[in-house]
Amino acid sequence: MSKIIASAAIRGAHKVVKRAEEVLQGALIKHGAEKTIEFPNTGYYLPLIYAMTGMEVQKMKDLQPVIDRAKRLLPPEPTEHIWLPYLGHTLDAGMATLFADEVIEVIKYLETPVPYSVTENCPDTGNFWLGAADDIIMRKRGIEFVDGTAPGFAAIVGAAPNVETAVKIARELQEKNLYVFMSSECEGLSFAEQLREAGVQLGWETRLVPFGKDISATVFALGFACRAAMSFGGVQPGDFRRILLYNKNRIFAFVLAFGMDKDAAPGALLDDEKYAQAAGAINFGFPAIADVGIPEILPTGVCTYEHVVSGKTGIPHDKIVQKAIEVRGLKVQISKVPVPVSYGPAFEGERIRKEDMHCEMGGNRSTAFEFVTMKNMTELEDGSVEVIGPEIDGVKEGGVLPVGIWIEVAGRDMQPDFEPILERQIHRLFNAAQGVFHMGQRDANWIRISKEAKKAGFKFSHLGQIIHAKFHTEYNKILDKVQIKIYTKLADVEHLREEARRIYHFRDERLSTLNDDSVDTFYSCTLCQSFAPSHVCIITPERSGLCGAYSWLDGKAAYQIEPTGPNRPLLKGEVLSAQKGQWKGINDFIYQASRNNIERFNAYSLMEDPMTSCGCFECITAILPMTNGVMIVNREYPEMTPSGMKFSTMAGSVGGGLQTPGFMGHSKYYVGSSKYILGEGGLKRITWMPKMLKEEIRPLLEKQAVRIGIPNFVDMIADESVASTEEEVMEFMQRVGHPALSMEPML
Ligand code: SF4
Ligand code: ZN
Repeated sequence: MSKIIASAAIRGAHKVVKRAEEVLQGALIKHGAEKTIEFPNTGYYLPLIYAMTGMEVQKMKDLQPVIDRAKRLLPPEPTEHIWLPYLGHTLDAGMATLFADEVIEVIKYLETPVPYSVTENCPDTGNFWLGAADDIIMRKRGIEFVDGTAPGFAAIVGAAPNVETAVKIARELQEKNLYVFMSSECEGLSFAEQLREAGVQLGWETRLVPFGKDISATVFALGFACRAAMSFGGVQPGDFRRILLYNKNRIFAFVLAFGMDKDAAPGALLDDEKYAQAAGAINFGFPAIADVGIPEILPTGVCTYEHVVSGKTGIPHDKIVQKAIEVRGLKVQISKVPVPVSYGPAFEGERIRKEDMHCEMGGNRSTAFEFVTMKNMTELEDGSVEVIGPEIDGVKEGGVLPVGIWIEVAGRDMQPDFEPILERQIHRLFNAAQGVFHMGQRDANWIRISKEAKKAGFKFSHLGQIIHAKFHTEYNKILDKVQIKIYTKLADVEHLREEARRIYHFRDERLSTLNDDSVDTFYSCTLCQSFAPSHVCIITPERSGLCGAYSWLDGKAAYQIEPTGPNRPLLKGEVLSAQKGQWKGINDFIYQASRNNIERFNAYSLMEDPMTSCGCFECITAILPMTNGVMIVNREYPEMTPSGMKFSTMAGSVGGGLQTPGFMGHSKYYVGSSKYILGEGGLKRITWMPKMLKEEIRPLLEKQAVRIGIPNFVDMIADESVASTEEEVMEFMQRVGHPALSMEPML
């Protein structure tokens, strides 16, 4: 291992820690030791420091111990190039750097205005640096690491030599489905600004995430990695060894260090502070690949691959992405879709503004629908794509036209129950094409195609090609033939939409007749075990997976499609408690699937052996003892709740595959189910929920309210407009005569 980089990283670490100390001194004078500090909407405090040390930094005065700890980690500052036989010193220096980074960054949140945009999407104007990801983003994006739609991330520091190179590298990383986390600058210029100059859409939606221009913003990438380990992996804060191992084994990430000028003296433009950050990343098993010739760090005990790779003169820009992928050992799968534009999940979040659009369909601007239906094998010609009516070249710029997307599928193992599941994929599959935007479903869909895509030769028929190619690759277990007709003449669209509507209605009826008592099979989901090893979701017709993404029908279809996948059919077996939702067959499965950790659970109980949670839940139900009832809070609600905790704080104690009586994670759909905490008396126990959630699920709630004979019950549930403490909830309940007041005591 090289003595030069060790010296540089250690020198850099000293500089960063010193800077953090100065920033802290200044902030202490200005704001005082009692000032509350936080990254907005997170239950993970300063995530990297919390993960590594277990320290819960909440106030300004909590920062000095962090700095002290960083200082203790710092090896003595080298006066000359010293030979260090182990990587250990460099790693410690790297960790000290990251602690200091996080201190510097959190203090930025006290500035006015805050130098970061606090919403997920980059606004087109104003400040586009995003800063720390909040827990909503974390969960939404983290799940992509769980299900494999995102294999990992590339942390880019510095800037490319020019705008074109930056765009090329970004596109290459996007096509490999990687997240791109950007921080720091080189001579005043940053990679993110280069992309912006080229008009590239930045933000979590496109996976091009500009964290911050300061070098210290690099810590946001590693903080993200720490939170993934804690929230999905169930690793305890402070268990740094497991956090680091978790990342090394599960998160495919690397650092791309750009020094901007290849002709400069080796290493000239990668300053000490950047070396120090790279040393921080190496702790996680994330190697650094540089475009300037810097001393390499070769394998030691920590990683089996190289830590810093640059060759003599740096890795050329057209090879750097490939090189990084090789070094980190990433297996990237791209199934080629025959369209003239880029294709991959990274393009899913792309929006198309009106000025950039060539034409649009649906979205209340024209009649539109999309529909998947099952046919006999003999009726279809696989791969046939027909456009009936004008093609894209027949539509003038800015045009609006009707569209009916009629997809027919056949296969030996196809069933009508799978039609809606296939139909729901249209959204994701269309969006993955660069220059195609899709929203909604059924007869409320909306499609835009960009001018750029049109220029590249994209046609309506390509929408059909996408469906044909992707249905075959993803659903070949159930499908043999796929045939698509795209109608763009109003008379056809109107006529066929009626036919589709009859089926939509029929499907809705069927779903509402399914209930837990009428089926003998439930489905398990262990998808989240890749991140939360002891967690299992049991999916029943009346209780969907807690992430809200898997219904019982989805579980059923997924099993048929992929019999060895994460969804298995489970026979309920003997009913042990109909009211609490306990079955012998399910208990047996849970015991084995949780590795003998959990003996039994009650699917409908909050207080007695509730179901475990992985971290993906849409809502949390928590007991409000004073009200003799419960409150529900959804993930999108960032404010304080009457329990005295925010969602993010509660989430910390509910997740990780544990059973926590009194607290439970679940989907939104479950709240409107007749089985919602039936063990405790059901719906009538709900005393508080945020207004936004109440309105979102009101139709479901009202149906249940009628069923239990209190038709106006929904308006007896307090929300933040009338109550923010337990006492206020109580007062409200007394005013409206809430039924929980006369129920038997919960505790
Ligand atoms: Fe994870 Fe449960 Fe959703 Fe499956 S159903 S993805 S286990 S949260
Ligand atoms: Zn999960």
